[in-house]
Amino acid sequence: MMATTHALVGAAIAAAAAVVLPETAPAVLAAAVAGSVFPDLDIYAGHRRTLHYPAYYWAAVTVALVVAATSPIPVVIAAALFLLGAAVHSVMDAFGGGLELRPWEGNSERAVYDHLNGRWLPPRRWVPYDGAPEDLLLAGVLSVPAFVVFGGDPSVRTGLLGILAISVVWVALRRRVAAVSERLAASLPASVRPFVPERFLTADER
Ligand SMILES: [Zn+2]
Repeated sequence: MMATTHALVGAAIAAAAAVVLPETAPAVLAAAVAGSVFPDLDIYAGHRRTLHYPAYYWAAVTVALVVAATSPIPVVIAAALFLLGAAVHSVMDAFGGGLELRPWEGNSERAVYDHLNGRWLPPRRWVPYDGAPEDLLLAGVLSVPAFVVFGGDPSVRTGLLGILAISVVWVALRRRVAAVSERLAASLPASVRPFVPERFLTADER
């Protein structure tokens, strides 16, 4: 899924938390959104493996929620929701497309790495690939709780609309981005190519 879809999952998590604990709203919104996009910081270094932990994050979430239940102060709740966002992200990636330059072709059987069982989880393709129309639909639905809970704040409303606008542009350009990446990768000298992440190369170039 798109990074923006993941960010909106964080916003939805924060909206649910803010209903229960309204005084923590600003801190949890920032933390949940940051945690929800955090795993994709590994895009250039072992993407969907280095910072994606579809099993282990849940152990950390459990500990953090127990601590938050006993000490419900904003910083602890924010930490718990950061981890929850990262955990949900890691699991969600298994329901999208595979790791490949043109994921709509459906050639990759690698969605996200499961460190617990030492294997790649296969893509289920409920959302066929990041930037698919289905991804945009999901992003739109996920934005609703945040608009309902935080929509009275003009800066949050603007932020949510900005995320949706970026999503629309990404969906419109997604296939062209793959074509440009392919041309760029092909134009690189052979000595540099080993440093280009696999997902930006075609099967022939790897
Ligand atoms: Zn991811």
